[in-house]
Amino acid sequence: MELNKMELNKMELNKMELNKMELNEMDPKSLIEKELNEKELIKKELIEKELIEKELIEMDQLKSLIENRYTEINLKYNEIKCLKNEIENFKKQIWKVCKHEWERDYSAMGDDPFKYMCKSCKLYKNSF
Ligand SMILES: [Zn+2]
Repeated sequence: MELNKMELNKMELNKMELNKMELNEMDPKSLIEKELNEKELIKKELIEKELIEKELIEMDQLKSLIENRYTEINLKYNEIKCLKNEIENFKKQIWKVCKHEWERDYSAMGDDPFKYMCKSCKLYKNSF
Protein backbone atom coordinates (compact mmCIF):
# COMPACT_ATOMS: atom_id res chain seq x y z
CA MET A 1 0.00 0.00 0.00
CA GLU A 2 1.91 2.98 -1.21
CA LEU A 3 0.57 6.34 -2.18
CA ASN A 4 2.87 7.86 -4.75
CA LYS A 5 3.22 11.45 -5.82
CA MET A 6 1.14 10.90 -8.93
CA GLU A 7 -1.77 9.64 -6.88
CA LEU A 8 -1.47 12.63 -4.59
CA ASN A 9 -1.53 14.92 -7.60
CA LYS A 10 -4.52 13.06 -8.92
CA MET A 11 -6.26 13.66 -5.61
CA GLU A 12 -5.62 17.35 -5.92
CA LEU A 13 -6.96 17.34 -9.45
CA ASN A 14 -10.07 15.52 -8.27
CA LYS A 15 -10.59 18.16 -5.63
CA MET A 16 -10.20 20.92 -8.19
CA GLU A 17 -12.58 19.20 -10.57
CA LEU A 18 -15.16 18.87 -7.84
CA ASN A 19 -14.94 22.56 -7.08
CA LYS A 20 -15.22 23.41 -10.75
CA MET A 21 -18.23 21.15 -11.10
CA GLU A 22 -19.98 22.80 -8.22
CA LEU A 23 -19.79 26.08 -10.07
CA ASN A 24 -21.54 24.63 -13.11
CA GLU A 25 -25.10 23.51 -13.32
CA MET A 26 -25.48 19.87 -12.47
CA ASP A 27 -27.25 17.32 -14.59
CA PRO A 28 -28.19 13.99 -12.98
CA LYS A 29 -25.30 12.20 -14.67
CA SER A 30 -22.72 14.61 -13.32
CA LEU A 31 -24.36 14.39 -9.90
CA ILE A 32 -23.75 10.65 -9.88
CA GLU A 33 -20.20 11.23 -11.07
CA LYS A 34 -19.71 13.78 -8.34
CA GLU A 35 -20.91 11.34 -5.72
CA LEU A 36 -18.56 8.66 -7.04
CA ASN A 37 -15.70 11.14 -7.12
CA GLU A 38 -16.44 12.18 -3.56
CA LYS A 39 -16.45 8.56 -2.43
CA GLU A 40 -13.14 7.99 -4.21
CA LEU A 41 -11.76 11.13 -2.65
CA ILE A 42 -12.84 10.13 0.84
CA LYS A 43 -11.25 6.72 0.32
CA LYS A 44 -7.99 8.33 -0.84
CA GLU A 45 -8.05 10.80 2.02
CA LEU A 46 -8.46 7.92 4.45
CA ILE A 47 -5.47 6.12 2.91
CA GLU A 48 -3.51 9.37 3.09
CA LYS A 49 -4.45 9.81 6.73
CA GLU A 50 -3.43 6.28 7.56
CA LEU A 51 -0.06 6.70 5.84
CA ILE A 52 0.52 9.95 7.69
CA GLU A 53 -0.30 8.33 11.02
CA LYS A 54 2.02 5.42 10.32
CA GLU A 55 4.71 7.83 9.13
CA LEU A 56 5.07 5.92 5.88
CA ILE A 57 5.19 8.90 3.56
CA GLU A 58 8.42 9.94 1.85
CA MET A 59 9.92 13.38 2.22
CA ASP A 60 8.88 14.61 -1.23
CA GLN A 61 5.32 13.56 -0.57
CA LEU A 62 5.42 15.20 2.83
CA LYS A 63 6.61 18.42 1.21
CA SER A 64 3.74 18.33 -1.22
CA LEU A 65 1.35 17.62 1.65
CA ILE A 66 2.66 20.71 3.41
CA GLU A 67 2.12 22.74 0.23
CA ASN A 68 -1.42 21.38 0.00
CA ARG A 69 -2.18 22.36 3.55
CA TYR A 70 -0.88 25.89 2.96
CA THR A 71 -3.09 26.13 -0.10
CA GLU A 72 -6.02 24.97 1.99
CA ILE A 73 -5.22 27.57 4.68
CA ASN A 74 -5.14 30.29 2.03
CA LEU A 75 -8.46 29.17 0.62
CA LYS A 76 -10.00 29.27 4.07
CA TYR A 77 -8.54 32.74 4.74
CA ASN A 78 -10.16 33.91 1.52
CA GLU A 79 -13.42 32.34 2.58
CA ILE A 80 -13.24 34.22 5.91
CA LYS A 81 -12.46 37.45 4.05
CA CYS A 82 -15.53 36.95 1.84
CA LEU A 83 -17.75 36.25 4.85
CA LYS A 84 -16.46 39.37 6.62
CA ASN A 85 -17.18 41.43 3.50
CA GLU A 86 -20.69 40.07 3.45
CA ILE A 87 -21.17 41.00 7.11
CA GLU A 88 -19.94 44.54 6.38
CA ASN A 89 -22.42 44.84 3.52
CA PHE A 90 -25.28 43.61 5.69
CA LYS A 91 -24.33 46.12 8.37
CA LYS A 92 -24.30 48.92 5.80
CA GLN A 93 -27.79 47.93 4.71
CA ILE A 94 -29.00 47.86 8.31
CA TRP A 95 -27.35 51.23 8.88
CA LYS A 96 -29.44 52.75 6.09
CA VAL A 97 -32.82 51.41 7.22
CA CYS A 98 -32.57 51.56 11.01
CA LYS A 99 -34.07 54.53 12.84
CA HIS A 100 -31.13 54.61 15.20
CA GLU A 101 -31.63 55.19 18.88
CA TRP A 102 -28.26 55.96 20.42
CA GLU A 103 -27.21 55.04 23.91
CA ARG A 104 -23.85 55.14 25.55
CA ASP A 105 -21.98 51.85 25.46
CA TYR A 106 -20.12 51.49 28.73
CA SER A 107 -18.41 48.29 27.71
CA ALA A 108 -16.72 49.93 24.74
CA MET A 109 -12.98 50.31 24.83
CA GLY A 110 -10.79 52.30 22.51
CA ASP A 111 -9.46 55.77 21.90
CA ASP A 112 -12.84 57.47 21.93
CA PRO A 113 -13.87 58.71 25.37
CA PHE A 114 -17.49 57.71 24.70
CA LYS A 115 -19.00 55.27 22.30
CA TYR A 116 -22.64 55.22 21.33
CA MET A 117 -24.44 52.15 20.18
CA CYS A 118 -27.84 51.91 18.57
CA LYS A 119 -30.39 50.18 20.78
CA SER A 120 -32.01 48.32 17.94
CA CYS A 121 -29.28 47.55 15.36
CA LYS A 122 -26.34 47.38 17.79
CA LEU A 123 -24.10 49.36 15.43
CA TYR A 124 -21.84 52.12 16.70
CA LYS A 125 -22.59 55.74 15.89
CA ASN A 126 -19.34 56.10 13.96
CA SER A 127 -19.68 52.82 12.06
CA PHE A 128 -20.06 54.32 8.56
ZN1 LIG B 1 -29.69 51.43 14.51
